[in-house]
Amino acid sequence: MNPGHAEQTKPSRPRIAVFGSVNMDLVAYVPVRPASGETVGGTEFRQVPGGKGANQAIAASRAGGDVAFLGAVGDDSFGVQMRSALVESGVDTAALRTVPGPSGVAHIVVEASGANSIIVVPGANAAMTGLDENDRRVLEGSDALLLQLELPMEGVIAAAEAGRKAGVRTVLTPAPARDLPDELLDRVDLLVPNQHEAEAITGESDPQRAMAALLERVPEALITLGSSGSLYGVRGAEPVAVAARPVEAVDTTAAGDTFCGAFAVARAEGRGPAESMAFAAAAAALSVQRRGASTSMPERAEIDALLA
Ligand code: ATP
Repeated sequence: MNPGHAEQTKPSRPRIAVFGSVNMDLVAYVPVRPASGETVGGTEFRQVPGGKGANQAIAASRAGGDVAFLGAVGDDSFGVQMRSALVESGVDTAALRTVPGPSGVAHIVVEASGANSIIVVPGANAAMTGLDENDRRVLEGSDALLLQLELPMEGVIAAAEAGRKAGVRTVLTPAPARDLPDELLDRVDLLVPNQHEAEAITGESDPQRAMAALLERVPEALITLGSSGSLYGVRGAEPVAVAARPVEAVDTTAAGDTFCGAFAVARAEGRGPAESMAFAAAAAALSVQRRGASTSMPERAEIDALLA
């Protein structure tokens, strides 16, 4: 089969490509994290496919996108499991590479207090220094390209450039926070930081001021503000704020990835910014009421029911 987007079931499903990371999250729950040289007993262990790229791909697919994932897994059992997890969520993995060596893993220790420590070993993700022919073919048929910063910077820049050339709308989540070279930002249509990342980029803690500073570097930005909602801006117009939905959050892990994936789908369906923010806020509100990352992301029918 030629890598590319899956056969369309509904002609209106927007085509979203995600060039990003996929990690196996190995999560140990402990009363208190061990100090140097100490061994502590854990209360629970979970193994969950994650990584910001895979999370956004799963969120966008469940939200109604026709999603293709561009990334790499290792030739180990984690790689097989992560490919299956993407497929089970409806993500097209025909262009997902299997490279020699281990898959990416994230070792996560969560304390009873909720505080956590994370070690990410990139493994196969480090191979994503550029695009191959399959990746380029997928991009040619896409409406939007979702990028994050868990892959080598040269690969992210190459993907943004290829997206631009193919006329695809490029969307960057600047996480984990790191320096953003102009070479990358010049190729980004929409930047989606959380409040902390927006402050790291602009030096402004106030969202309105951060928005003004972001719009000097990219044409469009969307700052997520946790339970305070989100703020969207485009050059030459007043920013638009949309509230979060008032819900009892039990686990906000990957709320941002859920929000970004759903927003990209709604925009690619032709909805306006405010309506897309409300759609994304509904998806994220559903996810924060359940434990886990990809495991907590809602299906389209659930989002539509909440908005009805
Ligand atoms: P994470 O790092 O956990 O993935 P993030 O920091 O990238 O999250 P946030 O700004 O915390 O992203 O959240 C994204 C969106 O999720 C918010 O704009 C909001 O709509 C929704 N959200 C987050 N926390 C809550 C909450 N406690 N209640 C309702 N909605 C929430």
